[in-house]
Amino acid sequence: MADSKIWLSSPHMGGGEQKYVQEAFDTNWVAPLGPNVTGFEQDLEKYIGGERFVGALSSGTAAIHLGLIMLGVEAGDEVICQSMTFSASANPIKYLGATPVFIDSEETTWNICPIALEEAIKDRIAKGKKPKAIIAVHLYGMPYQADEVNRIAQQYDIPVLEDSAEALGSRYKGKSCGTLADLGILSFNGNKIITTSGGGAIVTKTKEQKDTAVFLSTQARDNAPHYQHSHVGYNYRMSNICAGIGRGQMEVLDKHINLRRSMHQFYAELFADIEGVSILSEPNEDYHSNFWLSSIVIDPLKTGGKDREGLRLALEAENIECRPLWKPMHLQPVFEGCPYYGKKVSEKLFENGLCLPSGSNLTEDEKSRISKAIKQFFS
Ligand SMILES: *Cc1c(COP(=O)(O)O)cnc(C)c1O
Repeated sequence: MADSKIWLSSPHMGGGEQKYVQEAFDTNWVAPLGPNVTGFEQDLEKYIGGERFVGALSSGTAAIHLGLIMLGVEAGDEVICQSMTFSASANPIKYLGATPVFIDSEETTWNICPIALEEAIKDRIAKGKKPKAIIAVHLYGMPYQADEVNRIAQQYDIPVLEDSAEALGSRYKGKSCGTLADLGILSFNGNKIITTSGGGAIVTKTKEQKDTAVFLSTQARDNAPHYQHSHVGYNYRMSNICAGIGRGQMEVLDKHINLRRSMHQFYAELFADIEGVSILSEPNEDYHSNFWLSSIVIDPLKTGGKDREGLRLALEAENIECRPLWKPMHLQPVFEGCPYYGKKVSEKLFENGLCLPSGSNLTEDEKSRISKAIKQFFS
């Protein structure tokens, strides 16, 4: 194949990253602590605002794990989780020996459905077990219906863990994603809107909560000259090298969000004339998405039988990477038997949905290859 591969979402360095990494080497801060870790946390705190505290960790998954521990989740508990998401949202529930209770999506943001959420809470309480926490996710950068979710969570007094792994820079009613719930998490994995090669963060309301997360992430050492432990600890802190990459990435975050948003615009225009294809878009001005991944659903009844899988294969043949939407967790073999509430919204999205190349580093040439391949498929 002559044409080079077009990736769904690949790392995009801004240029400043190596300066911070070099500094770490020059000063020998090659450890899971140091000035870059502190600096990156401060950059993130300033960026997301909302008087929140940020603890830099080794991954978003680690942040969810610590977050659930801090919300008191223990073996035998139940934790509510959006079904349509990446498995990392739900796996930490299992790490703790708790049971996930999965919730369907609603059709506008594709995220947790408030109606199914409330139905689930009522039913779990009626069955004798009140869920310990709710994990809600801003998929592909699109904020979930945060007011509705918070209202229900408050009514039943259940804390919300906001999985903002895909939504750094997205906003709901002007507030940053990651700051909308009791605890938030971010991810800086290689495919996310900014990357530290691998990494994540926990976002807390108080300094004490951040200190607890950092304490747990550094093996839970008590304050003593010898190694003294009264809690189970984890090795989840971010390295000063990775944090250096993060500081450089923060310098270009807004620029990269604008580029991702223009990718969304590019697809919105491309599909405007194609019957039967709809693109995930902001429902109204309360929602501001970073459009981490531009995603569409295809209704084969309206396209003369052309479907998601057909388009995926046609693009693959042109060396253009794309992926079906996240397969809902209640359909995953690993979560078989876990309770599920809702209808078939997420199942239908999975069946008909596709994520398209959305990187902030796509060239005009690559965009025209994509556009040509899509138009050809639908012609
Ligand atoms: C990427 C991702 C995570 C996990 O983050 P890592 O940093 O890869 O561990 C969690 N939830 C969602 C929705 C994600 O997309």
